[in-house]
Amino acid sequence: MTLVQSIFSRVMPRHVVDRMEAESRAWKAKCPCGCNLSFWERGGVRFGASGKPQQLLKCPECQQWTMHTVTREGLSDEF
Ligand SMILES: [Zn+2]
Repeated sequence: MTLVQSIFSRVMPRHVVDRMEAESRAWKAKCPCGCNLSFWERGGVRFGASGKPQQLLKCPECQQWTMHTVTREGLSDEF
């Protein structure tokens, strides 16, 4: 767990933390180089997302700041 993730898990109620982790795992950001990692795997969180499909992120694979295509996988919209 990264610092950001542990801070969130300390200040939020358990069920919110679980949901936040699930959200952060479901949201993936794909680099033009082909690297496709979830926000959780990148050490961040994404919660109550705005639905912006493009985001400038640093890719852990090619080490470049590139426009990533953000997609959401595997979660229903019941939240
Ligand atoms: Zn990349």
